Amino acid sequence: MNKFENSKTNFFKIPPVHKILNLPVAQQLIDRYGHLIVVNAVRDILAEYRYNQKKKSNNNKIISYNDIIKLLKARISSETKDSLIPILNLSGIILHSNFGRALLPKIALKKTVDVLGSNYNLEYDVQTGKRSDRENHIEKKLCSLIGAEAVTIVNNNAAAVMLILNTLARRKEVLISRGELIEIGGSFRLPDIMKSSDCILREIGTTNRTNLSDYEDAVKSKTGLIFKAYSSNFTISGYTKIVDEKDLVNLSKKTNLPFVIDLGSGSIIDLSKMGFKFEPTPYDKLKLGVDLVTFSGDKLMGGPQCGIIAGRADLIKKINKNAMKRAMRCDKYTIAALYSVLKIYQNPMKAINEIPTLRFLTRTKDEIREQAERIYNIIEPLFREQIKVKIVNCFSQMGSGALPNLSIPSVGIAFKHCDKKKNGLFPIKFAEKLRKLPTPIIGRINDSTLVLDLRCLEKETDLIRQLQSLKNV
Ligand SMILES: *Cc1c(COP(=O)(O)O)cnc(C)c1O
Repeated sequence: MNKFENSKTNFFKIPPVHKILNLPVAQQLIDRYGHLIVVNAVRDILAEYRYNQKKKSNNNKIISYNDIIKLLKARISSETKDSLIPILNLSGIILHSNFGRALLPKIALKKTVDVLGSNYNLEYDVQTGKRSDRENHIEKKLCSLIGAEAVTIVNNNAAAVMLILNTLARRKEVLISRGELIEIGGSFRLPDIMKSSDCILREIGTTNRTNLSDYEDAVKSKTGLIFKAYSSNFTISGYTKIVDEKDLVNLSKKTNLPFVIDLGSGSIIDLSKMGFKFEPTPYDKLKLGVDLVTFSGDKLMGGPQCGIIAGRADLIKKINKNAMKRAMRCDKYTIAALYSVLKIYQNPMKAINEIPTLRFLTRTKDEIREQAERIYNIIEPLFREQIKVKIVNCFSQMGSGALPNLSIPSVGIAFKHCDKKKNGLFPIKFAEKLRKLPTPIIGRINDSTLVLDLRCLEKETDLIRQLQSLKNV
């Protein structure tokens, strides 16, 4: 018998699907997970076996009912496992795009859940019994907080930028300095955004230096608007020059071209009053005479994902008439969450405590150190024999391009192997162990240590309990 015949015979030995499904174990799985998942899993397992058989990578091993049941259980458990799970963000990055950026305040969470589960007057005027606009719930509050004539909101800041460009500069040239042709994570690249918005990019100046005259020379009849983007994730230093925004405001008035700034992460409150480096607020820019600003709802503002457009009422009106606006409009839970967050901002002192993003940002080093000591006292004795546990100073960052050059002094717990020879791989392996916990703990690797930055830690007992479960590493 040649090899081919041999493998062929084994095909006939593959148990038929209906017989597998009739096994008591398979029936139990069907009761628990439903027929469809189990049948598909059986078919996939058999298909895989046949494929390997053809490739001769099975060594002609015959597949038994027992083999199939084992594979079936493993497959179903991986397919039905929760894939969207909470994590403990101890990376030191407050607004981590991969972890969902800003956390909503408790009051906003409650409101959002309510709005999802009950009928609300989302677009309905209870007094007149007539249709109204969903943005009415947020418009006045937002306008008064940032000193805007009018506002509108869309799905995110990328959408906000596209909608402005498409409305105000379609098939026209958009002037932007070469030093601001930014790319931020998640495929937001300004040249591509311009193209998709049906605008023609007109690069001004050079990468490091741009003069007002460069803008003046570029203004033609086909110019649509003057655009500026905040380079939130890099800096250009050395021999540099950027044009004063006041000069661009004047140029825009003289030429009657709208001047638009993409702020990226607009802070509602002036953080310099809390000892942070000054970060331009939407309020400041509008006051300066900028026609429109855009920013994200889930960056420094600490709200839900959305893109906020604020400024001149006549321009906002045009934007709202663009058919694209309907495709980018915010859903009801974004409206509910944003509404609650804006209500909190009406009392700025309250906002710092109630909005998690601001609460994390303003936690003092002393406060974090006290927390570190509490955790250290419980954890250190458990790990002592193998792992050196230490309280260390470290630096947190805002993340998501907000406050880009700011290192925020913080305190963390560092883990290092007692055996120096094992130090090389230890942090990577330990990080992996922490990621495999029921609530994965995400830290940061620094040289040969794994550091858990405690700035964003609120679920302290959860962290301690999970670290205790690891003591036999
Ligand atoms: C973050 C950012 C964006 C994109 O905002 P999203 O809300 O993520 O769409 C655009 N421009 C700048 C300058 C940013 O920092």
